[in-house]
Amino acid sequence: MVALDYHSGSDSPSSSSSGKDKSSSHKRSKHHSTNSKKRSRDTLDITNATTNGTTIPKGERRSSVSKPARDFRDQPIEPPRKKKKSKSKSNRGTSAPTPDNEEETTSLTRSPSPVIDFDGLSRPSRGTRERLEETDEQKQARLERMKGAVRTILECVGEDPEREGILATPERYAKALLFLTKGYQENVRDIVNGAIFNEGHNEMVIVKDIEIYSMCEHHMVPFTGKMHIGYIPSNAVLGLSKLPRIAEMFARRLQIQERLTKEVANAIMEILKPQGVAVVMESSHLCMVMRGVEKTTTTTITSCVLGCFERKEKTRNEFLSLIGVNRR
Ligand SMILES: [Zn+2]
Repeated sequence: MVALDYHSGSDSPSSSSSGKDKSSSHKRSKHHSTNSKKRSRDTLDITNATTNGTTIPKGERRSSVSKPARDFRDQPIEPPRKKKKSKSKSNRGTSAPTPDNEEETTSLTRSPSPVIDFDGLSRPSRGTRERLEETDEQKQARLERMKGAVRTILECVGEDPEREGILATPERYAKALLFLTKGYQENVRDIVNGAIFNEGHNEMVIVKDIEIYSMCEHHMVPFTGKMHIGYIPSNAVLGLSKLPRIAEMFARRLQIQERLTKEVANAIMEILKPQGVAVVMESSHLCMVMRGVEKTTTTTITSCVLGCFERKEKTRNEFLSLIGVNRR
């Protein structure tokens, strides 16, 4: 098992080859070395590649392998890179470098921080907006439609919806589902509610083992686990209870673990403007455990590190050892 390459955080170079996994998150179950050969470039890879003992194809990377295996952003600023560096500081978002146009892509594709849904819409769509602003009548109509749909599902699985035991199931299920996705109706601003305190505190703050119950958007079955959130304030700290509440808000939506991890990290980064944020989540997916590969003991670990956690390996390792995930 390859150790998670926490060093690359939200700008995972692993995405460069696939182009799909643009999230900062890393799955432990993914074997990184398979990717590292194909990755087009990005100096970040060097840490990973060297530690993995992978040969790095010549001409595919900007930096030479003889350079120390470390995050290039830890290096002192050199004039030609200055622009890119300052850019990457301000753009903490996630993105994947595209294979072409080597010199420019790193700065260009590091997109600005993803929009935090201050209006409660994680992925703005007509549906979530309607749900947020609906009247009582519309709410009732929504429930009726959902009940009808669940009734159909019951019929389709071979049940008799008129059977006594499941007579009220459509309504119960519809209400349960609305509860499980209540995060669509919440927003970061209300949750934080001004609980930001200028304490002049600049040491790491960690809230670990936050219980998470979320729903896989691919199968609409739960995935559950624990999330660990750490940040290093720039004077301002967030009320401690807010961290689990932010996690809860994003978890109560249809999710994939990678995005959930990233959204929580980005939200804290946006709200608090700390020196850095790190979020690690370990969870078990019912869609893997109960169906599909049926591997009941698998744990999926994702991480997203921003700011100083992304830049400084020492800070990152301190966080990882404090939450007990770093088993290198
Ligand atoms: Zn699933």
